[in-house]
Amino acid sequence: MNQSRGRVLILDDEPSIGRMISLMAQELQLEAMSVTNPGMFFTALTAWVPTHVILDLIMPEMDGVEVLQQLGYKGCTARIAISSGVGNRVLGAAQLSAAEHGLDVAGLLPKPIKMRELQEFLYSSPDPNPAERHKKPFNEQGEMTITRADIQGAIREKQFRLIYQPKINCASGRITGFEALVRWDHPTKGLIMPDRFIALSERLGLIGLITDQVVDQALNWYISTPEVEGQSISINISAKTLEDQDFSYWLDVMCNRAAVPKELIILEITETAALDDQLLALDMFTRLRMKGFHVSIDDFGIGTSSLRLLARLPFSEIKVDKSFAMTVVKSSESKIILQSTVDLSHHLGLSVVVEGVEDRETLDFLQEIGCDMAQGYHIARPMSGESIANWILERQPRAIFNLS
Ligand code: C2E
Ligand code: CA
Ligand code: CA
Repeated sequence: MNQSRGRVLILDDEPSIGRMISLMAQELQLEAMSVTNPGMFFTALTAWVPTHVILDLIMPEMDGVEVLQQLGYKGCTARIAISSGVGNRVLGAAQLSAAEHGLDVAGLLPKPIKMRELQEFLYSSPDPNPAERHKKPFNEQGEMTITRADIQGAIREKQFRLIYQPKINCASGRITGFEALVRWDHPTKGLIMPDRFIALSERLGLIGLITDQVVDQALNWYISTPEVEGQSISINISAKTLEDQDFSYWLDVMCNRAAVPKELIILEITETAALDDQLLALDMFTRLRMKGFHVSIDDFGIGTSSLRLLARLPFSEIKVDKSFAMTVVKSSESKIILQSTVDLSHHLGLSVVVEGVEDRETLDFLQEIGCDMAQGYHIARPMSGESIANWILERQPRAIFNLS
């Protein structure tokens, strides 16, 4: 082959299927290798460093989900497609779990694989931001290597940075606000994602100190970025914050000092956290709402008593878990859930944000069902505070829904 477009590694326990995909990939000008068991797969992964991986989910020796987990621990940067004969629902769940392991999962390639779909996958460009994904504080066995002293050091040295992801109005396409997402900018380990240290910091009782720095940075960013004036800022707070009786008072003082209007601040708390101690949550949310802050229920739809919670607690916004948006194109269940959540929320006078919007089709669907706001990679990936001003300026002259 003169010029290869890349290298694709196929793991399928059925040799004839692997061979067929290889031939199709070669036709598309990629080098291809197919293997039939995970041992051979991981050897080829290290020795051959593929640009693309096609993975069967159901294999006798090891299931596909375990292979995905291992790929996550190894910091695999290849673009991955999951192939399987199972239904879309199982495929969707596997895709979600792979994304959670920090992998670049392009999508699903249900069997029998069609040439056009294979080409779409093999010719797609990789995640533009892979650097963040694989610098993980895990060793080869997948064990966490972050200690209490590491986190205390990070707090002392102020190593936490915020990046911001825009949220838009579905009907008009206009920006309504930004969600602040924390990263740990570690001097030797690189950028560490929040799912590696937030829960640990909660267990170690250190989350309050991180939240303080997050709020402080978000407010400073807001007052030093005139382009975002009048937009909302969403800040994630942890379940542990509910136990901090002084939090609402402290936040009030911080906002007054920075002269940031309180009605622009949205505190996001996960559904599971709010469920854990509903009395504490009721106390805290009531205090926050009385002071003028907004409260959003995050990751909505994956907890167990979502509906009861909605009726009981004084939320102003519902943020539907990204698993629904990420599967809506292929799953009629997700469509029904999204539509019903939007209707229900509107009946309760709440606004709805759907996150995890990765393509135009999903945004169109949300617009059709009357969803209020959307957030996700299709609109923008989270970006540094300095990039936001440029992003806003660049985006303005374009047609409202011409986002990509
Ligand atoms: P979350 O609040 O549900 O935040 C949304 C997550 O989805 C973010 O991951 C964001 O980067 C990602 N995301 C946004 N759009 C898309 C999309 O279209 N597709 C996909 N696949 N993902 C998308 P991130 O930044 O890794 O944050 C993970 C979680 O860490 C957050 O989930 C939140 O629970 C927690 N977290 C982040 N920052 C903070 C913080 O400052 N304090 C606390 N307590 N928790 C935080
Ligand atoms: Ca959130
Ligand atoms: Ca969420």
